[in-house]
Amino acid sequence: MISYEMGKSLYLNLTNRCTNDCDFCVRQQSDNTLTDYLNGAQLWLEKEPEYDEIIRDIEKRDLLKYDSIVFCGFGEPLMRFDVCISVAKWLKSHGVKHLRVNTNGQANLIYNKNVAPELCRFFSVVSISLNAKNAQEYEALCHSKFGLAAFDGILDFAAECVKAGAEVIMTVIDELPAEDIKICREIAHKHGAELRIRAKIGEQNNDNAKKRAAE
Ligand code: SF4
Repeated sequence: MISYEMGKSLYLNLTNRCTNDCDFCVRQQSDNTLTDYLNGAQLWLEKEPEYDEIIRDIEKRDLLKYDSIVFCGFGEPLMRFDVCISVAKWLKSHGVKHLRVNTNGQANLIYNKNVAPELCRFFSVVSISLNAKNAQEYEALCHSKFGLAAFDGILDFAAECVKAGAEVIMTVIDELPAEDIKICREIAHKHGAELRIRAKIGEQNNDNAKKRAAE
């Protein structure tokens, strides 16, 4: 499924691929957990949709009714940076105001250059999974193909997106100890971002998420 609604947003799913292999990734969860969470939507793509296919899918929707259009999973959307930018341009030219990308923050590592200015010409919000308070813990949890370098790369990318004018939100899952969340919040603020605490997929209503989100 290329697009699906959640809350007041429309989510776009452009790839299964990712540079990480996070222990908590939805791709590791059972089909039931995932499809229940997404009201039955199947996100695994048998084939990555081409630009024309994506446009054909989204032009059937009433795009202006959504609060935002979110480029999200199933994998890492910025694995398809050029397609993301092309689709974002199309959306902007059709009156859509708010675009967000949910990313692992490794785009500058993937492309070995600073892509934040190009990204933030179109995306007003960049949500980056921080996940841990240091490189070692990030690597133990997320298993990036960039190894220990991933963590600093993510922080640099966040700072570049802030510099390029985007609202940057860094996220952690609510299972982290409170002390770690405090440190992650300090890291986010130091790089000009906010910290948001999210529940794991399928556990959005649990008490931890609500309690930590309020902290
Ligand atoms: S960064 Fe996201 S898509 Fe990639 S493995 Fe981690 S949770 Fe999954």
